[in-house]
Amino acid sequence: MGFPEAEARLFHGVWICMSCGARNRSAKGKPEKCRRCGSKRLRLKAKEQRK
Ligand SMILES: [Zn+2]
Repeated sequence: MGFPEAEARLFHGVWICMSCGARNRSAKGKPEKCRRCGSKRLRLKAKEQRK
């Protein structure tokens, strides 16, 4: 594996709820469910967009 920091930059551990669109942060791995609506339909935010 590479550097954990580099991987963190790629994904930031942010998952987007496909139901309500809420962002769910997770240190590692997919969150069990959306913390806002409880949906299990989450997708990984592919890239951090420019701020
Ligand atoms: Zn949700």
